[in-house]
Amino acid sequence: MPESKSVDVVIVGAGFAGLYLLYRLRKMGLTTVVFEQGDNVGGTWYWNRYPGARCDAESLAYSFSFSPELEQQWQWSERYATQPEILKYAEHVADHFDLRKDIQFNEQVTAARYDEAENLWHVETAAGKQVAAHFCIMATGCLSVPQLPAIKGVEQFAGPRYQASKWPPEGVDFSGQTVGIIGTGSSGIQAIPVIAAQADHLTVFQRTPNFSVPAVNGVLDQDWVVQFKENYRKHRHYHKHGLSSGFGDLQIEPVARTPAAPTAAGLSDAQVAEILDKYWQRGGAFFLSAFEDSLINEESNTRIADYVRNKIREIVKDPQTAETLCPKDHPIGTKRICVDTDYYATYNRDNVTLVDIRKSPIEEIVKDGIRLVDGEHKFDTLVLATGFDAMTGALLNMDIRGREGLPLRAKWQEGPRSYLGMSVHGFPNLFMVTGPGSPSVLSNMLVSIEQHVDWMVGCLTHMAEAGYTRFEPELQAEDHWVGHVNEIASATLYPKGGSWYLGANVAGKPRVFMPYAAGVGAYRDVCDDVAASNYRGFAFS
Ligand code: NAP
Repeated sequence: MPESKSVDVVIVGAGFAGLYLLYRLRKMGLTTVVFEQGDNVGGTWYWNRYPGARCDAESLAYSFSFSPELEQQWQWSERYATQPEILKYAEHVADHFDLRKDIQFNEQVTAARYDEAENLWHVETAAGKQVAAHFCIMATGCLSVPQLPAIKGVEQFAGPRYQASKWPPEGVDFSGQTVGIIGTGSSGIQAIPVIAAQADHLTVFQRTPNFSVPAVNGVLDQDWVVQFKENYRKHRHYHKHGLSSGFGDLQIEPVARTPAAPTAAGLSDAQVAEILDKYWQRGGAFFLSAFEDSLINEESNTRIADYVRNKIREIVKDPQTAETLCPKDHPIGTKRICVDTDYYATYNRDNVTLVDIRKSPIEEIVKDGIRLVDGEHKFDTLVLATGFDAMTGALLNMDIRGREGLPLRAKWQEGPRSYLGMSVHGFPNLFMVTGPGSPSVLSNMLVSIEQHVDWMVGCLTHMAEAGYTRFEPELQAEDHWVGHVNEIASATLYPKGGSWYLGANVAGKPRVFMPYAAGVGAYRDVCDDVAASNYRGFAFS
């Protein structure tokens, strides 16, 4: 077994969070090692290489803001960057800041144990590497543990089977093939139009329809980009403080700067359509920001949902298919809204069939297709876009143990508990980036990652200056924060969504609304206030 070495900080994961942490901690003069299970940087953008994969946040906002030099140097080509371009960006960041030398690839962390007497974390990888560190920071991502469907027979499919979140790097050529796909979340909705354009025939097995809005993607006008970049500080400020999600519309003038209408409730259909048409034509998830109360007022939400259902009926020619595609079981936005290119129009193609497996459930995956209660569908290739064990999956897959050997799995048996979504009582000197209890997946992840890392660096600097070597959130502060996160969630429609935000997609997972729904600006203010009041809620020694 390789010899144990000791560093100031061990970071788990070399996605965007791990990369930025490494950059900042190194600047502080701390010794660090990053363990990454893949053979490259990029995290989610390394694994999710399915056809059509691209970000649903606009490129110029879904990028690091910490280096004006990097901002100016990197040229995004499309409004919404493709997965290969985002991966290239992550590689560029790693190379430009010379980060790779402190990253150990193909090292999956399996355990992290805190030793109270030594005040050290002992971290182990599947390959048997061991490291001792004063601080351990989990930068493991929120959507990094794929979820295979619990469908009978999935292993007996004889043809090629691909999972969206573990796509082969060399890509897949679907030409001449018949394909079946299970899953109509963001991944499926992006992949379906691309696979349909290539395959002989595509059968989509849909259990629950999702709301999707057009991306209105396109090649970026470089003159516009120059103008945008001249005002980058102003835009960044707006994303970090002025918007609840940190995404925003990047249009320099109209929609983004037009204040949202207060409510859709009580307006006529024509009035609602007049407002939403602008957002629909402009494209993107910013659509939901048209009305201030879209996620808190049921009536307003229903009006917005009706608008989208009517769009689906307009686009999809076959009325029965259109109706099957209309989501009716959850308020719009309470499951992550999808952003697509030609998704609904794809169902007008002759080579695409939609199968409603709510009406006729899957009995079994067989060697050459899928057998439903009311018949069989045969195809050559199976694609699974069935989601993730989100937010807690990666953390709980490791054996993390805090003081007195307390397993995180035991502490979180009834759902995740944290202080500020960053730290856990009983687990000293452990941080999580974008953990449950922070805005995380409800936000532009790059905005949230930078905010968390900056805050953590501030906290570690405070400790170094004061001569502290140990921090731990107090139980009372954690309890209060968990209560506050729940209180905010209950004031919204989110809990009605039955989504992965709630753990509802994983059998046996506690139903707890995991992200903090008050928005990135409000959350940042709380974190800054905690820091300014001598890190209220943290015990240092
Ligand atoms: P998802 O939203 O959880 O969707 C999974 C899909 O698989 C759902 O349609 C689900 O149906 C279906 N499914 C799961 N198990 C099934 C089973 N046993 N039988 C039949 N259907 C089954 O997962 P995702 O599409 O990978 O997206 C997850 C998140 O990743 C997104 O919400 C988003 O945050 C992120 N993402 C972002 C982008 C982007 O930036 N553009 C792209 C992809 C993903 P039910 O709903 O009925 O369970």
